[in-house]
Amino acid sequence: MYDLQKIKKQLSKALDNKRYEHTLGVAYTAAALAMRYDVDIKKAEVAGLLHDCAKCLENDKKVSICEKHNIPISEAEERNHFLLHAKVGAHLAEKKYHIKDEDILNAIRSHTTGRPEMSILEKIIYIADYIEPGRDHAENLNEIRKLSFEDLDLALVKILQDILIHLKEIKKEIDPMTQLTYDYYRQLNS
Ligand code: FE
Ligand code: FE
Repeated sequence: MYDLQKIKKQLSKALDNKRYEHTLGVAYTAAALAMRYDVDIKKAEVAGLLHDCAKCLENDKKVSICEKHNIPISEAEERNHFLLHAKVGAHLAEKKYHIKDEDILNAIRSHTTGRPEMSILEKIIYIADYIEPGRDHAENLNEIRKLSFEDLDLALVKILQDILIHLKEIKKEIDPMTQLTYDYYRQLNS
């Protein structure tokens, strides 16, 4: 149903080397998490492969795609165009890679900030993006990697918490959706 080889071939042209390697890492990690949490493995791989499919577009291009297709740009996205790669990625996944599955498209759309009431697949992609083998900068990675295979929601809360702390430390703008997602899942799991 999904032609992974074909998707990989297209992605290897659309992404730079580093991003392509990251993408393979996310797909691989998402597949492993899908095994653990009884999610369709192929879907997890496809979502992992495509989550950053718009990452290497120029910012102007991302904005123009949004304008052309009436994709709303939030205030945070207006100031930080890199955030747009999630929405634009979901759009390209549908139009260029012919993905119809809403769950996969949502997973791509929500992978930068998360959102309340994510599906298991969405959580898996969010987490896989953070823990894939090529990542090495975040703190507590060993602990979070283990936790991800023990309790998906607790891992999610821990990742969101660490991201918020990190963004505050480096005085970067926090997308309100990241805060909202954290508050939602912290409450749910306390
Ligand atoms: Fe991304
Ligand atoms: Fe990514």
